[in-house]
Amino acid sequence: MVEISNIMDFDWHRILFSDQEYSFFWEILFRTPLMFLAVVVVLKFTGKRGVQQLSIFEMVMIISLGSAAGDSMFYDDVGLLHAVAVFALVLAVYRVLIWLITKFDWFELMIEGKPIYIIRDGKMCLDELKSKELGSDEFLGTLRGQHVDQLGQVKYAVLEDTGSLSVFYFPDDEVLPGLPILPDEYQSKGRKVVKAGLYACAKCARTYELQPVEDHPCPTCKNLDWVEAVHRKRIG
Ligand SMILES: [Zn+2]
Repeated sequence: MVEISNIMDFDWHRILFSDQEYSFFWEILFRTPLMFLAVVVVLKFTGKRGVQQLSIFEMVMIISLGSAAGDSMFYDDVGLLHAVAVFALVLAVYRVLIWLITKFDWFELMIEGKPIYIIRDGKMCLDELKSKELGSDEFLGTLRGQHVDQLGQVKYAVLEDTGSLSVFYFPDDEVLPGLPILPDEYQSKGRKVVKAGLYACAKCARTYELQPVEDHPCPTCKNLDWVEAVHRKRIG
């Protein structure tokens, strides 16, 4: 247990002010707005209008700018011109990458990846998902955010290269019975089928008519967990 007296013994002056003079506050007052404006100017030059959907290399650019700007706001041994030089280089690399992406398709594919189908006709596209480290919990959560409560309502779901999910719905009269994804229904999945009916595989979401059975592997993906399929329309 830490004694109160030990905390009192801390070198509070060093913790709060490092070994800087108090006058360094004036310098921070000068450095911070300057670097803030510099970042705004550089971001303007990238042509980005917002940061809602950043590709991976755009995020790297933002992190690099943030680091150079942040450090020069309060480290006395980081010269402002050095930070500005970093800005100029980051911007140059960014523009070159953008040029390469628009010029060569193979480069775009390498840097940004391509959109992949996650759902087709209410069923998970497991082969295409395999290469992506996408937690299905996270993915189901995103679908619930779009008011999807069973996968039979979804005609297509496409994971874009920016990481956002585009969802296309069946019209109400074409909705299929499917895997329920509301937490209490989805968590009721199990290996034991007690009564005959239409069940959805908890992994690939394909539906099958099952008789009472235990440990029945999904014909498509070999998964053993089943959930009773539901046939609900989407309430928007
Ligand atoms: Zn399956």
